[in-house]
Amino acid sequence: MDSQKFVELEERFGAHNYHPLDVIIDRGEGVWVWDVEGKKYMDCLAAYSAVNQGHCHPRIVEALLEQAPRLSLTSRAFRNNRLAGFYEKLAKLTGFDKVLPMNTGAEAVETAIKAARKWAYTVKGTAEDQAEIIVFDGNFHGRTTTIVSFSTEAQSRNGFGPFTPGFKIVPYGDFDAISEAMHGDVAAILIEPIQGEGGIIVPPHGFLKHLRDLADEHNSLLMMDEIQAGLGRTGKLFAYQHEGIRPDVVVIGKALSGGLYPVSAMLADDAVMSVFHPGDHGSTYGGNPVAAAVAMAALDVLVDEKLIENSASLGAYAIERLKKLEGDAHVKEVRGKGLWIGIELHESSGGARRFCEVMQHRGVLCKETHVHVIRLAPPLIVTREQLDWALDIIETTLAADDPKSLLLEEAVSVS
Ligand SMILES: *Cc1c(COP(=O)(O)O)cnc(C)c1O
Repeated sequence: MDSQKFVELEERFGAHNYHPLDVIIDRGEGVWVWDVEGKKYMDCLAAYSAVNQGHCHPRIVEALLEQAPRLSLTSRAFRNNRLAGFYEKLAKLTGFDKVLPMNTGAEAVETAIKAARKWAYTVKGTAEDQAEIIVFDGNFHGRTTTIVSFSTEAQSRNGFGPFTPGFKIVPYGDFDAISEAMHGDVAAILIEPIQGEGGIIVPPHGFLKHLRDLADEHNSLLMMDEIQAGLGRTGKLFAYQHEGIRPDVVVIGKALSGGLYPVSAMLADDAVMSVFHPGDHGSTYGGNPVAAAVAMAALDVLVDEKLIENSASLGAYAIERLKKLEGDAHVKEVRGKGLWIGIELHESSGGARRFCEVMQHRGVLCKETHVHVIRLAPPLIVTREQLDWALDIIETTLAADDPKSLLLEEAVSVS
């Protein structure tokens, strides 16, 4: 079946809730993927950082293949022999007392919201239904009805009301606005340490520290959504470590399983996690033995292959190279941390998508975010040689007045 046929079938029988590039991927290995016609590409999105360990990492695949035929699901009505090891490994790696496993990122965020509210009522002493959670302009925390209730993206909200109350939105990175927004009934501040879907927005240095101080001052929790930023993407295990702080609650997902299985978790110390009692919260698949086995292998790969260090050094290198494009015809700003880079184009450049489409034809898969930003986030196993190959293509594509002209030139030179 050729690519066009797959596209037609998808469009005919599937909901149209995404607008993907028309590349039909059939196989992946490391940083590379191949489409159904056999063309090879470097994946520079890595499934929004879920595939930080690279596609089909052999160690993680092996963990899945070993566990799946042995025991796949018990539900949490019974215990299984893989969960304890997963808890211990994750708690020790991250330095938090306790782990609460879920499946998707949005579920982990929901878990954190519930924890913050229950903590406010049972520990802090907030009056019934008065607990407020402060969030930020441009946030992305998932797609559930409660989470879209505090989105500032019109498209995420429009048509999905009525919305869950109890959230206040303040501008991201604005020191004064958050100071003013704090009050005695703030249960928690929930923030992405770098906004991913918002366009790789890095807050001013000191902002996270400021939030830590405010949360302490008002006896509120500081909750970090590290679902995309965490587990090495920014060159640290967690992005909040760039400011030397420690939040009360962290939510992770995506790379926790290296892309093989949906696994997410909320992390916290006992003082917060102990608000949950049997029956308060849960998930049929959360903490199942396949998820636990896969996540343990994914964490081992992260540590043993020094992916965090690789992200830090190659990320700094890539940002330095790409910064040279600033001031060129199309490039307004290059920003990011580690191997998580946003290239913002001028509005006059006609949107990032047309550049992504040309890069696709030249063998590099990137995706636009927020119309004018190209997000560069290759798997963290990428080597310097592989990265140089992709950067050459990205730089020449962005340097062209009309990127489509490159495809004509290449077609001529091949024939
Ligand atoms: C992807 C993402 C989520 C939601 O994760 P899902 O697994 O898609 O539900 C939440 N927060 C951030 C920062 C994300 O990048």
